[in-house]
Amino acid sequence: MSTSRMNAIAAVTNYRPIEKPLNFSETPSKGLFGVNVFSDSVMRERLPKAVYKAIRRTIDNGEKLDITVADAVAVAMRDWAIEKGATHYAHVFYPLTGQTAEKHDSFLEPDGKGGVLAEFSARQLIQGEPDASSFPSGGLRATFEARGYTAWDVTSPAFILENPNGTTLCIPTAFCSWTGDALDKKVPLLRSMQVLNTMAQRILKLFGDSDPGLVFSTAGCEQEYFLIDRNFFFARPDLINANRTLFGAKPPKGQELEDQYFGAIPERVLACMLETERELYKLGVPVKTRHNEVAPAQYEIAPVFENANLATDHQYLTMTTLQRVAQKYGMTCLLHEKPFAGINGSGKHLNWSLGTRTSNLLDPGNTPHSNMQFLVFCAAAIRAVHLHGDLLRATVAHAGNDHRLGANEAPPAIISIYLGEQLTDIFEQIGKGGARTSKKPGYLNVGVDTLPAFPKDAGDRNRTSPFAFTGNKFEFRAVGASQSVSGPLVALNTIMADSLDHIATELEKRTKGNPAKLNSAVQDVLQQIVKEHGAIIYNGDNYIEAWHKEAARRSLPNLSNTVDALPVLISKKNIDLMKKYNVLSPREMESRYEIYLERYVKDIIVESRLTLEIAKTTIFPAAVKYQHQLASTALALQQLDKTCCTAVLDEVNGLAKELQDSMHALEMVIGNHVEGPTLDHATYARDHIVPAMDRVRKAADRLECVVSDEFWPLPTYQEMLFIK
Ligand code: ADP
Ligand code: MG
Repeated sequence: MSTSRMNAIAAVTNYRPIEKPLNFSETPSKGLFGVNVFSDSVMRERLPKAVYKAIRRTIDNGEKLDITVADAVAVAMRDWAIEKGATHYAHVFYPLTGQTAEKHDSFLEPDGKGGVLAEFSARQLIQGEPDASSFPSGGLRATFEARGYTAWDVTSPAFILENPNGTTLCIPTAFCSWTGDALDKKVPLLRSMQVLNTMAQRILKLFGDSDPGLVFSTAGCEQEYFLIDRNFFFARPDLINANRTLFGAKPPKGQELEDQYFGAIPERVLACMLETERELYKLGVPVKTRHNEVAPAQYEIAPVFENANLATDHQYLTMTTLQRVAQKYGMTCLLHEKPFAGINGSGKHLNWSLGTRTSNLLDPGNTPHSNMQFLVFCAAAIRAVHLHGDLLRATVAHAGNDHRLGANEAPPAIISIYLGEQLTDIFEQIGKGGARTSKKPGYLNVGVDTLPAFPKDAGDRNRTSPFAFTGNKFEFRAVGASQSVSGPLVALNTIMADSLDHIATELEKRTKGNPAKLNSAVQDVLQQIVKEHGAIIYNGDNYIEAWHKEAARRSLPNLSNTVDALPVLISKKNIDLMKKYNVLSPREMESRYEIYLERYVKDIIVESRLTLEIAKTTIFPAAVKYQHQLASTALALQQLDKTCCTAVLDEVNGLAKELQDSMHALEMVIGNHVEGPTLDHATYARDHIVPAMDRVRKAADRLECVVSDEFWPLPTYQEMLFIK
């Protein structure tokens, strides 16, 4: 075994749990939840009544923020933060890199007399100007006009981030350019929520609810991730630099036995999860479930759903907290969509619905066929996804997710809707002229007298569908584990708003203010939607080949990779849609397209360079060493008139030659990379660089299975996934 690999394994097996366990005397439930959040109760306690009420009106009703309240909020926030040990404040923003960014400033300012004062004014709360000109803007701002502003998002509460050496007040903000263009993932999300509210209000009004309160979308994100020992991580340059393994033969035991799925959680991992949850609790993130996933060393964490804007910010916090806490336990959290080839990858199921503070508008109730309002919202989703499934697909397009979508562990790149038996039946009835019954859920009888008969759901689940109705929400399952959920939410909210707009207009036309006409108008409009958009509904197995054929027959797009999917962002249809609802201007759409495409190229280039470097400097030398050992043994034996090991030597010779040839080919392909529009680069990367990388990997992985273990330089899949 190579020395570095041996050292890594020795370090892992010598790992000792941290000696002083966390102080869990405080119950993590009540006492701890939100202690580091400038929450509603903190605001109520510390803000003048009128200021508190004004803030609440903005949060609860979406009213315009009365900026004169900012002074009082700034003072209260500062005092609260300083009491909690904060020395700095930071505007946190969400640039198009998909990560969070923050600029820290000290509360202290010189008082002009040689001392310092704790300062934090309304202006500093409301607005920041991080230089931040190196964030991707896709041409929206040239470096000479680099002004970018962060603006306080009142609807997402400020929080305290702890560090052993001090704490920081973090203020979630939106990030835009001097020209007002969105440079981040929050601005369009807030815009999309605003238009969704407007359109949903029109529908609710038709159903006689003229003052339902703000309608907003909700999101609950199930995050999958891997945890591996840090010593392995540091022994793998591919993991350090590309967050995924670029080499590694499939271990004899992979995930076939599925013996870890929902199994007992290893102690170190559980300790890490407990602390992660505790930290998230303090930040007001309502984490709820945890379990082992299908792949070895893979896990999942999920919160209770929240307002989609807040859930998005909390999702970022969940990812950073997972990564931060894992380090404390000697592990690394991998959020890449496919850290290990041949083993399930990681996704992020995005559960999405819309509602008011008291109701879920996608709740079918017990007799959905007669729940007209629900049927309208559900039909709007059907129309929306049929018309704009391509856009939804494009929001999850990036290099990492290309390994996952369509790989029989995640839905295919074809977007369709799973409605389940009960709702499909109802919409079929509507299509034929009117829905009169709902199939009953019934009871599940297990056949054991001592077990209770419990009510079963009206339909079974379908784990293979990309967009499934799951009881009272849709679950979008194509999001990658490392991605922000903002992009998919922006698309969902906007396409839903568009369909609600369409339905409201049709209903308004037909009823002309007469509520008695509503029922037949709804029947007409929904029947039309079933007829025109029913093709998006598919309840079968999404993994089988026959579905791909059937989907093509139904003209559902199959954008199987990032390079095919991203251009959808600048199709006329989607540019017009985003413009119509003021969610993203054509300039903003084009800039996003450019940024994401460029990112794809960069990801592939980095991976290809790494592949070449590791193959040349690490794997090839190991192969040559073994060749040398075999060859000298063969020679020595020949001199003794004996033959041995020539078959293995031939195999190693052949593979070493293949490795060398493929490295050479990859080098050529990287060198030939032409100048030109980004789409050309991306297409070249997909069609030439990716296959050349695959060829190198194939030869290397086969070598891994023959080269003496003594020489193999990189920690193997077996070691990384199973030594815990
Ligand atoms: P699974 O899909 O693994 O069975 P669950 O059904 O428990 O998981 O729920 C998944 C997620 O869906 C949770 O985060 C939950 O809070 C969220 N969820 C439930 N209701 C809604 C809703 N109305 N809007 C958005 N998310 C929701
Ligand atoms: Mg799920």
